[in-house]
Amino acid sequence: MATTARKPRTPKAKAAGHGQLIYTFREGNAGMRQLLGGKGAGLAEMTNAGLPVPPGFTITTEACNAYYAAGKELPDGLWDDIVSHMKQVEEEAGKGFGDPANPLLVSVRSGAAFSMPGMMDTVLNLGLNEETLQGLIDLTGNDRFAWDAWRRFIAMFGRIVLDVAGSEFDEPLEQLKADRGVKLDTDLSAEDLRGLAARYREIVQDHTGEAFPSDPYRQLELAVRAVFDSWFGKRAHDYREFNKIPHDLGTAVNVVTMVFGNMGTDSGTGVAFTRDPNTGEKTLFGEYLTNAQGEDVVAGIRTPAKISQMRDEMPEVYAQFEAIAERLERHYRDAQDLEFTIERGTLYMLQTRSAKRTAPAAVKIAVDMANEELLSREEAIQRVDPAQIVQLLLPRFDEAAKGQAQDRFLAKGLNASPGAATGRAVFDPDRAVAMKAAGDPVILVRIETSPDDVHGMLAARGVLTARGGATSHAAVVARSMGLPCVAGAETLRIDYRAQSMRAGEKVVSEGEMISIDGTTGEIYAGELPTIEARFEDEHDLATLLGWADEVRRLQVWANADYPRDAERARAFGAQGIGLCRTEHMFFEEDRLPTVQRMILASNQATDAKRRAALGAELSADDEEAVATFDTALAELERLQTDDFAGLFRAMDGLPVVIRLIDPPLHEFLPSYDELLEEVTRLRTLLGQPSHTDAVADTDAPALQRGLAKLFGEKDAARAMQLIQRPGRASVPEDDRSRMESELAEKEELLAAVAAMREQNPMLGLRGCRLGLMIPDIVKMQTRAILAGAARATAGGARALPEIMIPLVGHVNELAETRTILEAEVSRIVESSGQQVEYKFGTMIEVPRGALTADEIAQHAEFFSFGTNDLTQMTYGFSRDDAEGKFLLQYVDRKILPENPFQVLDATGVGQLMRMGVEKGRATRPGLKIGICGEHGGDPASIAFCHEVGLDYVSCSPFRVPVARLAAAQAAIASSE
Ligand code: PEP
Ligand code: MG
Repeated sequence: MATTARKPRTPKAKAAGHGQLIYTFREGNAGMRQLLGGKGAGLAEMTNAGLPVPPGFTITTEACNAYYAAGKELPDGLWDDIVSHMKQVEEEAGKGFGDPANPLLVSVRSGAAFSMPGMMDTVLNLGLNEETLQGLIDLTGNDRFAWDAWRRFIAMFGRIVLDVAGSEFDEPLEQLKADRGVKLDTDLSAEDLRGLAARYREIVQDHTGEAFPSDPYRQLELAVRAVFDSWFGKRAHDYREFNKIPHDLGTAVNVVTMVFGNMGTDSGTGVAFTRDPNTGEKTLFGEYLTNAQGEDVVAGIRTPAKISQMRDEMPEVYAQFEAIAERLERHYRDAQDLEFTIERGTLYMLQTRSAKRTAPAAVKIAVDMANEELLSREEAIQRVDPAQIVQLLLPRFDEAAKGQAQDRFLAKGLNASPGAATGRAVFDPDRAVAMKAAGDPVILVRIETSPDDVHGMLAARGVLTARGGATSHAAVVARSMGLPCVAGAETLRIDYRAQSMRAGEKVVSEGEMISIDGTTGEIYAGELPTIEARFEDEHDLATLLGWADEVRRLQVWANADYPRDAERARAFGAQGIGLCRTEHMFFEEDRLPTVQRMILASNQATDAKRRAALGAELSADDEEAVATFDTALAELERLQTDDFAGLFRAMDGLPVVIRLIDPPLHEFLPSYDELLEEVTRLRTLLGQPSHTDAVADTDAPALQRGLAKLFGEKDAARAMQLIQRPGRASVPEDDRSRMESELAEKEELLAAVAAMREQNPMLGLRGCRLGLMIPDIVKMQTRAILAGAARATAGGARALPEIMIPLVGHVNELAETRTILEAEVSRIVESSGQQVEYKFGTMIEVPRGALTADEIAQHAEFFSFGTNDLTQMTYGFSRDDAEGKFLLQYVDRKILPENPFQVLDATGVGQLMRMGVEKGRATRPGLKIGICGEHGGDPASIAFCHEVGLDYVSCSPFRVPVARLAAAQAAIASSE
């Protein structure tokens, strides 16, 4: 590695072949975020606002991209440009870079357009070497400070730029503190730090094979390259992937004159938010450390003091900082996240950016700022990410259970990111990923986190650290991910080697369950039961959603099958039920046997009834099938009438769309494979011929193993015996008769299930096809809907039923179904003498349905897009298998931009929807159209639904608030 100073060549204002690649802070502004990165744009804006910012410049994101385009070479002219800008900084600062008499030191900081914790962060004190160090000592008269800066610089540069593991530097420091019997870095003497610096240089030499670079310009060049390189490092790449940040934005590099927070007790450094990022409360929130440098606060190495304490310790600086914070917030019209340093009583601002915040804080800040008239209501609506507000509805631990779990209490840390999480403790990020992949919920436990741990955090349900404050890496990243986090639980002793942690006498090892409460900071061993959030207590959210309701055009309905879900949806603001999947009620444990009886008799009974209607005599067997079928249907009618009456009562005065039975019938029956296994087992044990007779006893051990799997160890030996000498083993008489009758029952069931089996059930006898083949089921459902409505009405509620037919592809399917059901309705009206209000409509979920929506609309009073099936059938992706087999990989490999089962494929599926809307309304102007696939709760899909002119979206109850906000944002965006 060259250590001789590189002489600056003739500087150029612009690097050859490129736009301007460097901007001084005076030249930039907040609008240049893409080019200067968030940090650079903020520093420029603050400089131009007259705030105290140390002189410096920003190398643009374009320079980073040019560096990559040139195969990791600095673009032509960039280096000369850097040098000439260093000269300007020297002039402004009145110091010389590499000048032993009056040394200029700089920090080199990465800064992309989006804040990215996965990237190289900051190298401080760059420009130090043995000569400039002496200059620093002479100038400050503070040799301890200078040696401290020097040892920090070697470690930081070694770790970040030269890729030496951080622990290499931590260990000698910890050892030294132990040898000296001190706890804090600040307790070490100048002499100690000097020895440490010498040790650090040896470490660098050992790891890189070269001496630590002493030439300041060489240091600068290596640091700039390291920032560029970090843009494509694995961590940054992973982070961008997760957050869907494009990879071609590049990072800027900021070179900033060093100011020192470690020049004594009148110096310090800190980070602060203009409003509390956890609660949104309007108060300065943050932390600082006296006599420390920037990284100490963020990295959580020493636990800092609350910013409010600065008011007492440095009242004048605090007042100045408070005024600047207020000014920046007004200037940016948003809560800011600020970094500052105080050098011997003088305040310097090092960063301002929009503050990351929790969901409750985002909502409160938006509402407060609108009330303070800093924002309009529409702006406030746009400030909150709809997906984030799901967090407000997050479950939390049951307080009573918590009270009883006091003997399992482990520790209390900082409530760094809200929400409750339970999972297996894991102490290593790679292990967290592996355990998550194996299906375990995990809590990542670390002494402190760093960007290296981000993949482990992504895999975790929650994060726990023993060190660091509310602005530490763990806290900031967890908040942005919406992960519960408890930070700085200092009483925990975490031992990476033993993969365990100790809290007093209690030890938790990897794999053991723990529960963390990110809202209170409490940590418990074992699992804690959780309870739902109370939406009605979220007053700011109610205000914001109230404003959203005033601007949105789309109505928000909910998918709900049970009265309790309908009640919850209504409390969340749902304006109707867009989908009640009636068959869900069939799956309930106590109903399933009745459903199975009905299904097993359905084919024979339907056929027999048809023949009887033509005058045929029925056999006793047919009569029995009809009786079984009708009895089971009558029982289900009674139950469904109760269900529907409950739904109508809950939704009093609001529409309730009830979809008639949809899935293939065999879904309600026992599995064919399991039945076959059972029948084979019983036959074999009874010595009856079965396909196992064909098995020769040549491979007995393998057969034995297979049988053990099939029958269990206990019966396997007897089965083996039977196979080898069929008929000879005897079964005790009592068992034999029981087993024979069981076998007869199972065989009958197997035959019925086999008769209903389909190769492609998703494309088979389901939806309206089922209703056309076995009309009694949908007739029964129609009766139950009308009877339920009548009952709710009699009880004083206003029932507005809408009967929906699924899976229509051809107009005749709908027309015929309607004829059958209307005949049924007429019969009911005639016999009861009561008129019931209802609508009749269909789902559009088969591509042909969308293509012929004009024909279909002749028979439908409403449409609802079933985008789950529509996506499945448009793409030809099985909704049951695609995600597990290839779809998630498709998304990872960018073959598809998103999972189309989550985010509506606007180009393909969306085109069918657009066509469906246009054609449907061409036939029936004003046709009411909604969506009830999963996409109805996804913000991007909601924007599309707004654009194509749907009347409502219907989503799960918990997503109703999300959809209300997203619908308002869509309305605002389209009016802009
Ligand atoms: C759909 O297909 O989008 C739909 C809502 O129906 P299901 O998910 O029940 O098939
Ligand atoms: Mg469907």
